[in-house]
Parts: sequence; C-alpha cells; structure tokens
Amino acid sequence: MTLLIKGGTVIGPSGSIPADVLVDGETIAAVFAPGRAPDVAQVIDATGKYVIPGAIDAHTHMQLPFGGTSASDTFETGTRAAAFGGTTTIIDFAVQKTGEVVQDGLAAWHEKAAGNCFVDYGFHMIIGGVDDASLKAMDSLVREEGISSFKLFMAYPGVFYSDDGQILRAMQKARENGSMIMMHAENGLAIDVLVQQALARGETDPVHHGLTRPEALEAEATSRAIWLASVAADCPLYIVHLSASKALAAVAEARDRGRNVFAETCPQYLYLTLEDQLGAPGFEGAKWVCSTPLRSKHESHRADLWQGLRTNDLSIVSTDHCPFCFKDQKELGLGDFSKIPNGIGGVEHRVDLLYQGVADGKLSLERWVETIATTPARMFGLYPRKGVIAPGADADIVVYDPNGRTRISVQTHHMNMDHSAYEGYEIAGKVGTVISRGEVLVDDAGEFHGRKGRGKFLQRGLSSYLI
Ligand SMILES: [Zn+2]
Repeated sequence: MTLLIKGGTVIGPSGSIPADVLVDGETIAAVFAPGRAPDVAQVIDATGKYVIPGAIDAHTHMQLPFGGTSASDTFETGTRAAAFGGTTTIIDFAVQKTGEVVQDGLAAWHEKAAGNCFVDYGFHMIIGGVDDASLKAMDSLVREEGISSFKLFMAYPGVFYSDDGQILRAMQKARENGSMIMMHAENGLAIDVLVQQALARGETDPVHHGLTRPEALEAEATSRAIWLASVAADCPLYIVHLSASKALAAVAEARDRGRNVFAETCPQYLYLTLEDQLGAPGFEGAKWVCSTPLRSKHESHRADLWQGLRTNDLSIVSTDHCPFCFKDQKELGLGDFSKIPNGIGGVEHRVDLLYQGVADGKLSLERWVETIATTPARMFGLYPRKGVIAPGADADIVVYDPNGRTRISVQTHHMNMDHSAYEGYEIAGKVGTVISRGEVLVDDAGEFHGRKGRGKFLQRGLSSYLI
C-alpha cells in the first residue's frame, strides 16, 4: 500500500523544504522534490500545510496508581487522545516501588499496555528501591528489554524517594551500561517539613501545594543531581519537568561546563501560573496540582523556559501527562492539599500548545519539531526510526495546518478527564491528518480510524547524545 503526501512543506531540525513524501507500507520510501514523485492511488493533499514527523511524548503516566487512586487515562484512552493531538509515540513510566522486584513492575506495565494502544509506546523504568538486585536488573533491562532510561526521585519520601547514596549507585551503574538517569529533582524531605507546617497553620487550599514547593528546593535538588552525576564519572542525566528559572540556570551552567546534562519542560510551565490557575478560588486550583508546581507569574520562569528551549538548555517538551478527574479524584484532597493526586493531563495538546509558541515568535518552526519529535527520538534511542521524515524511517507523519485554529475544551478533548487544564484556550494551528506506520489514524476531517492494539512496544537503544 503506497501513499503520497503531496504539496506540503516538510519540517525538520535542519530546515523546511517543499517536498512530497512517499510512504510504502509502514515506512517512508522517499522524499521527492515537488512534482517529481510517481503517481500513486492514494494521495493526501498537503498544499499550504506543514508535514512533520509524528510527535513523541517522552513523559506520560497512563493508569498510574498515585495517592490512593489511578491516573484516569488508560493506555487505550490515553493513546487515542495522543493520536488526535499528533503524537504517534509515547514513552510511559513502568514502576518498581520500594520492595518490589524491578522485572515484576515492568511485567505489570506490559500487561496494562499490551493490546490496548493506538500508537507505538516504550517504557522508562522508575527505580523506587535502589539496591543490589535493582542495580543488576538495570543491566538486563538495557541489554534485553529495550529499556535504556531509569527514573529516580529526590521527592516523595516513603513512596519513590532515593537518598543520595542510592542515587550515586544508580548513576554509577548507568555510566557503566550506557543508560540515562532521569531525575525528579525536588528536595522531598524539606518539602514535607514545609507541608506539615502549612497544614498545622490551617493552610489547606490547593495554592499551598505550590507555596510549599519553592523554587529553591527544585534548584537545590537539580544542582545536587548534577554534581552527583559528575561524581559518577559524568553519568548522563536528564532532569524531568523542569519548571523554575534557577533550576534552568543550574542546567545551563552544567551544559556550559560540557556535562552530560539535559532537561525537559512541559506545556503547563510555559503557559500556566501559580496565581491564575493553582491559586483559583476555593478548591478549583486542585485541577492544576502537579509536581514540580506551577510557578509565579510575577517572576521570570515562563520567559526563561521559552528562552531555554531556544538555546537548547531545555532539549525537549513532554507533557508529564498524569490526568485525574476533579470529581472523586482531585476531591480526595478537599481540606488537605497534600492529599490531592498530583498531575495534569495534556497528552493531546502538546503539539498545538508548542505551535502557539511558533505563532507568537518564541520558537522557530524547526525548533518546534525538534523539541516535540526529533530530540525525544534521539535522546531515548528511537532515532532514526522515529522523529524524522526520511527514507527508511517509520511513516509516522502529521499534516499540520498553520492556518487552522484549535479550541481546547473538555467538551471536545478525547482524554478521559472531566475538565481541561487549558479550558477555553484558543490556539493558532491545527493537527490535520495523523499517520502512524503508514496507517491513517485521524483523517483531515477529524475522523478516527485507529485500531486498538495496533500500537507496538518499542525496544529502545541507547541515547544518541552519549559521549
Ligand atoms: Zn512524571
């Protein structure tokens, strides 16, 4: 089955060129100068549109158990919503909790995902209990399971938390086997003290979630992780969901020193704030409780994060998609902000929200594609199979209409959530046809054609950025 995407402008990190893309079966067969492609039966007219690689969301949490409940998107609903938003690959986090066997945690995630996904998926592994057995398991996951990145937490004592000695040991192991350490960098022990003090003062509203997780404790943990990685012979380190200017400064400084340090941010930190969302009256702000928290609009965080994306101090934009419904889930924290499940859902909107940055003149077209597709593929061992429009790559392709508009609302989104973190946002640009390995999942009219279970597990290699 061949398919020609004709008349569009193909965007990649190295430039934008008018070209026709020929798909044969599951892969891209050729990229032609306009009008030079052979005639084929199935043609998608991309005149006036951008043709970009299917986006890769390297940070999602489908059906993650957290705070006495579970993230409300399953692999089925979450990957369907992802497809509607132009994301054709997700990398989710399998979990080893303290005391569990790593391989058992991984098997549990395979069971949740297998047969349910509409798009391709891979896993990072959360190591919640660093010990001899889990360190050994890291080797076999890299060698045999296609899992080349491991996430540790400096936050959440008693749940996922690793102490500095455990972090150092895991980093040494990663340095040895070539894998990447991903870090939730917030000082969880200090945060817990601030949380208890706030609750004792009767400060129970959602906004106190943000106020008890100050920038200093993200910056401190980010710096500590960076220095620990340097002690571990420059183990590759990837800071997840970076939200604050001072944490970004620590990453930039490390990169200037030539360290193997990378970071991602998320759309919520580029758009939403402590005052306008988390600080909404009453319990409303619970919708925006996530960690790291939304930051103050009176400080320079958002502008600094956009700049970090331009300068490549921030390499990637992921969503940290971890949706909880307001009713019965976020409500678990009524009267005590520390019991609100942490997470925002956004897997459907990242491509559009970042395109708004292009429309606003904050990001180039090329950098847009790089931060949402190409760099995630390179960072996490999926390149050049994913993240690029080139012969031989998987035919994961999005036709994007720069003249369209997207209105975000709970009424129209496909995520399994009873609210939207971006309700009422009107965005420049619109996802059109979405193709995954040569199959049209969403057509130009917005009709869905995907089949549940067609999404494949991706065995990942090592990061392209390793030195
Ligand atoms: Zn996360």
